[in-house]
Amino acid sequence: MEMIKTVDLHKSFGDLHVLTGVSETIHKGECVSIIGPSGGGKSTFLRCLNLLEKPESGKIYFEGTEITGNLTKEERKAIKTGAMPKPEKVNIDLHRQKMGMVFQNFNVFPHLTVEQNVTIAPKMLLHKSNAEASEMAKELLNRVGLIGKINEMPGNLSGGQKQRLAIVRALAMEPEVMLFDEPTSALDPEMVGEVLDVIKGLVATGMTSVIVTHEMNFAREVSDRVLFIAEGNILENAKPDEFFSHPNHPRLQEFLSKVL
Ligand code: ADP
Ligand code: MG
Repeated sequence: MEMIKTVDLHKSFGDLHVLTGVSETIHKGECVSIIGPSGGGKSTFLRCLNLLEKPESGKIYFEGTEITGNLTKEERKAIKTGAMPKPEKVNIDLHRQKMGMVFQNFNVFPHLTVEQNVTIAPKMLLHKSNAEASEMAKELLNRVGLIGKINEMPGNLSGGQKQRLAIVRALAMEPEVMLFDEPTSALDPEMVGEVLDVIKGLVATGMTSVIVTHEMNFAREVSDRVLFIAEGNILENAKPDEFFSHPNHPRLQEFLSKVL
């Protein structure tokens, strides 16, 4: 089943054409890693998927529903002549909720305890009771080895613990897909493993995941597919063995020769 499908996605910042027509489909249960040089458009692509950035043209289908509201020239013409009805406005917040996002810089609320960090959104947005939210928080914190920190303030956590908390916070919203943008890039080396292990565990449960990472071994080990994004588009898309052992695109060959 198609979970997220993009069609000819374009995104610019001023004169800078950052995404140059990206078309890609992520299937339910898939783990897709994205690698590529800095500035190539990886974060922009990921941020477009949940509309943190609005692509100026192209479409994004989330579980079959088009969420950008962008229309093609042909569609605009058809609406004008009445040949096609005007599409209904979609509730972007509702769709965004179904996409959990984890950033490089541990997106946690510093003024809330670990437990409150996890329960606040489900209480406010999913209307969970205190008891329900708390029970879920305990179960998730237990899963990532943070149950002992439940009453701590985030300031007392290590980087690895903060990032595990950020993952739990996203999971508490019961997302359909998790988007990770370099989740281990800001960590001290000794803490990378504990965060990757949590993500690995999540992928093993069948969570659809898209992960921008520089951890090549991790990408090779956990992914169903790897995408190489550079110069604003996907230049290579292959299963991990193929991707790393037999890269086709010269730009990827060059990139791998530098990082491996
Ligand atoms: P990556 O994640 O692959 O390093 P990004 O998607 O962050 O690349 O950035 C791609 C390009 O877009 C870069 O040149 C970056 O400077 C530019 N860019 C990203 N976000 C913005 C923004 N909000 N405003 C202006 N330029 C941006
Ligand atoms: Mg980035």
